[in-house]
Amino acid sequence: MAQNHNGKNRGTDDCCSFCGSARDEVEVLFQGMDGANICNRCIENGHRMLAESEEAARKQAAPAPLTRDELMKPAQIKSFLDAYVIGQDDAKRYLSVAVYNHYKRLLHAQEPGETEIDKSNIILVGPTGTGKTLIARTIARLLKVPFTIVDATVLTEAGYVGEDVESILSRLLQAADYDVAQAERGIVFIDEVDKIARKSDNPSITRDVSGEGVQQALLKLLEGTVVNVPPQGGRKHPEQKLVPVDTRNILFICGGAFDGIERKIAQRLNTRALGYGRAAVERVDRDNLMRYVSPQDLRAFGLIPELVGRLPVLTYMHQLGRDALRRILTEPRNAIVRQYEQLFAIDGVALRFDDAALDYIVDRAVSCGLGARGLRSICETVMIDAMFELPTSGCTEFVVTADYARARVESAGGAANDAEMKKVG
Ligand code: ADP
Repeated sequence: MAQNHNGKNRGTDDCCSFCGSARDEVEVLFQGMDGANICNRCIENGHRMLAESEEAARKQAAPAPLTRDELMKPAQIKSFLDAYVIGQDDAKRYLSVAVYNHYKRLLHAQEPGETEIDKSNIILVGPTGTGKTLIARTIARLLKVPFTIVDATVLTEAGYVGEDVESILSRLLQAADYDVAQAERGIVFIDEVDKIARKSDNPSITRDVSGEGVQQALLKLLEGTVVNVPPQGGRKHPEQKLVPVDTRNILFICGGAFDGIERKIAQRLNTRALGYGRAAVERVDRDNLMRYVSPQDLRAFGLIPELVGRLPVLTYMHQLGRDALRRILTEPRNAIVRQYEQLFAIDGVALRFDDAALDYIVDRAVSCGLGARGLRSICETVMIDAMFELPTSGCTEFVVTADYARARVESAGGAANDAEMKKVG
């Protein structure tokens, strides 16, 4: 016999098995198996408890609020970048400040005051293989936030063949393991943004599907808006539930080679110089025009003014010279040479490159004109035979000399390969 809260004994058929309320004390009493019952109030209470525990779990999963103590100062950010990225001091300084401000902005968003701090999206201008992607990737590593790289050339206006700009956020969501709160603090690197430049100075005479249209579509994303994102990306899964993602605190870093922008810079400097007289022209560092790049030049290249306006931090990357390439081979924390040494160490082989071999590799990289990108493929060509043979040779030490490196490159096609690589670049 069950007892209800009034202390009256009832038949088990007549009361809730959970709270003991009698059938006539509740609105509905649901009958289960083996004489078990549940009343509508117990169902409602159970539902409320479940919702509360889900909410608690969600709060626990949300990223911990930032604190002032974890705020790295620009000089600390730069010295972290120094461990991975050789040279490019100006870009590193600009990025360190931009990242510092971005963090302060996130802090400010937690305890809003009267003044809202604007986003500091970044645009990096510089030739291929100078470290644009590397610098963005290193920053993401430092901030421990989700990071994704997208190629602007695959983006098209909604409704055309290609990917909508929302796909950028699908990628970020995937990188964040579908944790929306994390994704909303992430970093997106949009590569080859110069390839969506307007093709002519005449805006929208004909539709420019892959150029101006995409720039227009990017505007809202860069500024900050709530976008409904298909988590699996693309239009292949029309049944998927869209997830709202707020882009207000996502940091966008755009990168592009902007081939030929030096001409626009020179034109602008020359025109300005007319007004300032000879002295100003003579002070210009003609060998390194990129350092004078300005928003005006990006517009002259074909970025729409609204987009340029949403990328307030503009900085540039130098073409890497022989010295920088040489340092890239050995100095960064995950330098190419160190990576090969590690690979060989796993097989118990002590690997060493002699200085002349490193110089030879740098010479070849300079002649193929792909910046640091060339270094990796030249090293692969040099090392492929050794990587094939050494694990079974019983050898415990291996020195790469300039003669060995030259012989490997020449047997793999040498100069002919350089020509091919230039074409690919
Ligand atoms: P970009 O995006 O400018 O075309 P990447 O950042 O993709 O060039 O560079 C390609 C590779 O070359 C990187 O993964 C890195 O190994 C190397 N690299 C390029 N620039 C630098 C640099 N400044 N310092 C160190 N390594 C570099």
